[in-house]
Amino acid sequence: MSDNPPIEFAFPELRRWEAGGAAPYIHVRDSGKAGPIVMVASLTHGNEVSGAIVVDALLARELKPRRGTLIFSFNNIEAYHSFDAKNPFKSRMIDEDFNRTWGRLDQPATTLETRRAQVVKPFVERANFLLDLHSMHDDCVPLMLCGPLDRGVALAQRLGAPADIVRDRGHAAGKRMRDFGAFGDPKSSSTALLIETGQHWRASSVTVAKDVTARFLVETGIMEEADLPAGWKQPAPPRQRVVQVTHAIATKRGNFVSARRFEGQEVIAEAGTVLGHDDDEPVTTPYDNCVLVMPSINRPLRAGVTVVRLGRLT
Ligand SMILES: [Zn+2]
Repeated sequence: MSDNPPIEFAFPELRRWEAGGAAPYIHVRDSGKAGPIVMVASLTHGNEVSGAIVVDALLARELKPRRGTLIFSFNNIEAYHSFDAKNPFKSRMIDEDFNRTWGRLDQPATTLETRRAQVVKPFVERANFLLDLHSMHDDCVPLMLCGPLDRGVALAQRLGAPADIVRDRGHAAGKRMRDFGAFGDPKSSSTALLIETGQHWRASSVTVAKDVTARFLVETGIMEEADLPAGWKQPAPPRQRVVQVTHAIATKRGNFVSARRFEGQEVIAEAGTVLGHDDDEPVTTPYDNCVLVMPSINRPLRAGVTVVRLGRLT
């Protein structure tokens, strides 16, 4: 018996997108008319397949933007092609996390991921809007990671879905693509969003990836709703909420023991609630109505890994 979660959809054959683009597995569609440059990126992590299904489907439709330019990418395609159903989490990356390399791309590339990021970088630099399609290790409601800036929150709110918007500063371990260059510059207007569609291999994650991508392409003005596949857009949630990440709790030596099972985006009503113990030291919520953002609390972790992020409802 395998402990791995079920895989609820077929993985797309992507080798047909290697050639014929602006770079391997990167395709640019220019309308010939003035307008924004909009990038939709997938496989920043090689086993996060819902986004690849969306990009594959849009490329296969030979979709042309109404105005501006549309860029599609399969970022860590090598990791995707290394997928092994017996060890499905391993194909997140080959040498290192592609999405932590973006603060050191001016240095010589020494890993597969930094070499690939240097190929992807000029396209990210060209884009005015970026949607990076991700998914999560554990089952969780979809999360829109809008970065630290107001304009990221505003764009996530204009999309109208998903319900949960997370305002965060990224990872101490290295800069993400969504925070690179103008996207992280408070003075720029370039705006990036990162969607976590749900668990990596849930069919529902594909539904979320399609919905959010459809909303993004219409909201950025590059497409009209009628251009997109029927059934992609889903009903909007009644309201959205914004969670400001305030803390990232890492386990010192990998000895975190959870007080109970916790769900992603669970709200812990009372300050001082014990979430668990790390090396026998209690980890407690610092304020009332504390949101647990992407808890990895229910499974064993290596030393230094983030157990949970804590967020405040705003
Ligand atoms: Zn990811």
